[in-house]
Amino acid sequence: MIGCSVFAQDRTADLVVLNGNVLTMDEKRPQAEAIAVAGNKISAVGTNAEIRTMVGETTKVIDAKGGTVIPGFNDAHVHFMAIGNTFSSMDIKDIDTPEKLAERLRYYARFLPKGRWILGSGGNDALWKVDAAMLAKALDESAPDNPVFLYHTDPASALANAAAMKKGGVKLSAGGIVRGGALERVRFSVPKDHTKRWAEIAGTASNYAASLGITSVQDVHSDDMAAVYRELESQGKLKTRIYDCRSLPEVVKEKAIPKRSDADAMVRTGCVKGMHEGDDDWTPKLETDIIAADKLGWQIAIHAIGKGPTQAVIEIFAAAIKENGERDRRFKLEHAEGVSVDDIKRAGKLNIIASIQPYLFGRGAGFGSGYYTDLQKAGMRLAYGSDAPMTAFDPLLTVNVPSVSVISDHEVIKGYTQGSAYAEFAENIKGTITPGKLADIVILSEKMSEQKTNGMKVFVTITNGKVVYGH
Ligand SMILES: [Zn+2]
Repeated sequence: MIGCSVFAQDRTADLVVLNGNVLTMDEKRPQAEAIAVAGNKISAVGTNAEIRTMVGETTKVIDAKGGTVIPGFNDAHVHFMAIGNTFSSMDIKDIDTPEKLAERLRYYARFLPKGRWILGSGGNDALWKVDAAMLAKALDESAPDNPVFLYHTDPASALANAAAMKKGGVKLSAGGIVRGGALERVRFSVPKDHTKRWAEIAGTASNYAASLGITSVQDVHSDDMAAVYRELESQGKLKTRIYDCRSLPEVVKEKAIPKRSDADAMVRTGCVKGMHEGDDDWTPKLETDIIAADKLGWQIAIHAIGKGPTQAVIEIFAAAIKENGERDRRFKLEHAEGVSVDDIKRAGKLNIIASIQPYLFGRGAGFGSGYYTDLQKAGMRLAYGSDAPMTAFDPLLTVNVPSVSVISDHEVIKGYTQGSAYAEFAENIKGTITPGKLADIVILSEKMSEQKTNGMKVFVTITNGKVVYGH
């Protein structure tokens, strides 16, 4: 615990975090006060005094104010574009005052790229009856860089802000109610592909992830969006590392060979996602596909829930190992809920990763029952995730399970960082706060007391050495 672990001693730090309750998730040095970052890597972990010596004129200094500092969260199971698309329409049914409207618009504008439309429908009369000047103020000041267009429950009228009026060529300088021709002109200026503008949508998801302390995701949506993510990266707008999985049947059909990028790249590929829906009819085709994709070298993630499907998938994984030979392949069992006692033991022996979403499935009950600890005891590695947008994306909801939990908050954070990093072959470069690893760090608002994170907020998120949220 004493002594500074230095990776690149000769370099003045580009960024330092001081006064932290640093929980490194690295057993060799579990706790520290401060971190130094050089470029996109952690260069040193130590005491405040040690790290202060690395502060130069250009060093960015972040005071963690005693808050908990952990590796950035890595969500092992998300549908990233779908998360971004949850911001593609705004629910306004319950909004009846300009204050509430302003608040919701500001929330959307926090995550949406400039220029992206804010659309909504189902607005109620109360909002239409408020004073025109107040309405204009709410519409125009809350999201000035995003055109806003919100329908009444009767679509003959809508609210538009000044940015939307301008797009539609409507000669009104302030936001307000539009009808007839003005409404039509604004309507026609809304991009037809609003929900398919992938770069904007990915940008939204990435901004949102940063606000939640998530620095890496494993996108199991299997729709091959790597090119979009890379485009966003080249624009300097990608704040999240993405391991983008393709579709299992598709790569088998194409006989596609996985292109593996370095583990420290922002956008990586190499995994495929498939599913066992429950019916026995699924098994033979799935077996053929898994063995073929495994032979091609893909990492395979399969959705399976319940005794029957999980058993079938574990058997197929065993068959693939037998057919294609031993190697470090890291099969991922997605959800891994309801695995029988015997199958847990077999899965452990086969080094299968349990990709779990405790908030979605158990809301904590799984922790209390000891199910997840049973998986771990059998030798399965746990990778934590959310399955957002099926459920909330916020990892602190999973960390904050009820106190009956047999898994500590610390253990959950470890699964959500180190565990998930292992699940994507990246444990040597991320998942712990260790000199030499990527500077993906999250600072929480408070010190963890009695291993609890209740009520904590994300204060700062750092991805690839850059502050992407807060500060
Ligand atoms: Zn899912």
